[in-house]
Amino acid sequence: MDYDVLILGGGIVACAVGYELSKYNLNIAVIEKDYDVADDIAVVNTAIVYDGSETSNALMAGLENIGSELIRETCSKFNIPYRKIGSLRLSLDEKEDIKIRNMYSVAKDRGILNVELIDKQKIKEIEPELVDEYDSALYSKNTAIIAPYDLAIAYAEVASDNGVNFRFEEEVLTIKKISKGFDVTTNKNKFKCKFVINTIPDEIYIDEEDEVKEIIPEDNGVRKSMNYLFTEGKVEKSLSKIITKVIDDDTFIISSPMINGDTMICIKYTDKLNIDRGIEITNLVLPKLKKCNVSDMVREVYKKDEVLIDDSKIDSGYIRVTGKHYGKLTIAPAIAKSIKGRLVNSLNASLKKNFIDKRRESYRIREMTREDANEIIKLDKRYGNIICACNNISEGEIVDCIRRPLGARTLEGVKKRTGAGFGSCHGSYCTRKIMSILAREMDKNIIDIVKDSNDSNIVYGRIKEFDEV
Ligand SMILES: Cc1cc2nc3c(=O)[nH]c(=O)nc-3n(C[C@H](O)[C@H](O)[C@H](O)COP(=O)(O)OP(=O)(O)OC[C@H]3O[C@@H](n4cnc5c(N)ncnc54)[C@H](O)[C@@H]3O)c2cc1C
Repeated sequence: MDYDVLILGGGIVACAVGYELSKYNLNIAVIEKDYDVADDIAVVNTAIVYDGSETSNALMAGLENIGSELIRETCSKFNIPYRKIGSLRLSLDEKEDIKIRNMYSVAKDRGILNVELIDKQKIKEIEPELVDEYDSALYSKNTAIIAPYDLAIAYAEVASDNGVNFRFEEEVLTIKKISKGFDVTTNKNKFKCKFVINTIPDEIYIDEEDEVKEIIPEDNGVRKSMNYLFTEGKVEKSLSKIITKVIDDDTFIISSPMINGDTMICIKYTDKLNIDRGIEITNLVLPKLKKCNVSDMVREVYKKDEVLIDDSKIDSGYIRVTGKHYGKLTIAPAIAKSIKGRLVNSLNASLKKNFIDKRRESYRIREMTREDANEIIKLDKRYGNIICACNNISEGEIVDCIRRPLGARTLEGVKKRTGAGFGSCHGSYCTRKIMSILAREMDKNIIDIVKDSNDSNIVYGRIKEFDEV
């Protein structure tokens, strides 16, 4: 056997599963077709950690509730930005009032603590800048925001330091059941393994022994557009909690502070939303937001399938995680714990004695006092060379994020690890400099540096014979 366990796909679920299983004496690999882990969460550097109180599906609510507590512990252990800021789901009319009362009683039945129904006066106390028109709200003190990529990379780095082999740029083509395990064929290799954990979202073939080809269909959950608006800096009368306001059956708006202090507005809408309409809807919650406050707008597909750990083939050594959901990051650690339980039993795996539950240190100049920063710069002057002026990110941080285990190999990889390029200039000042550092550190030609995936070259060639691009 090449591996005891092959984890297919390198998203947040795979990283969390890899981390949990790295505590055991197992030979494990993660196979990811792209250059990096957790590509799905690239657009935003802030994710909401839900607590299960607003979720109608009991299974998802339970996973959210367990996941949110596991995320809190993990963030504290691995020094990941995490802020428990709480959330308010507002009610303006009778219909929404019935809904939040129902959510409240379901949350109580589910044993979710720190959730209350509050009236107008309490809303005003908690969020004084909110427009004065709401009669009641569901208030949860549990809801938090985190830097999602940091969570995924922390799981992956610790898993890698504890022996999990991350194989990038390998696309899984087929999985074939053999007498004692599986043959997994990629575009580069063929592996034998005892156990497969498949987290690849879309269709994949499973060749059973009897040669029946099963095609697992793409999820068919409700798909609507989720539009994200990002502000730059503090908007006048900005809010400190995560605010949800339902507009009609198809539209809702969530306003949330971001880890870096900006505001993120998420609008679920039936169709594509243009910026003017987006601002109009946002003004229902943030009346002072103007077009000039918006630094970026992106659109995603809104997904709300039930996420399932399909272990119907566990006896033959196969688990698949199915479904796309807007809160999947929250539930990823709960999924990982659950899979670990099932697999460790099945393989009778023993705990590693030398497991190191620690992430290698890194320095963030922008979060340091001047004195501390100067100490670091004395040791390595690259920490004094600021590359991203918007977010104050130094050359030292960029070099470290490339040289670390599972280091960045792409422009997006550097951006997600350090925050360089997430600023107001959208990378127009630092992109060329980051590309030069990547090329230097990886001993590559700058022309070969990509944005994220294989075919995403940024520079296509020289137009003049300069020594540097
Ligand atoms: C914009 C946005 C905002 C979100 N906000 C939140 C939030 O606030 N809170 C929250 O809890 N959740 C949030 N989510 C949800 C959550 O981040 C995602 O659902 C989650 O990252 C999905 O993780 P995954 O591991 O299941 O799948 P993926 O990240 O999709 O991972 C699957 C991996 O498999 C790889 N792959 C595919 N095919 C193959 C193949 N054949 N061979 C090898 N590899 C393959 C892919 O490249 C990918 O890396 C958000 C998602 C998005 C997109």
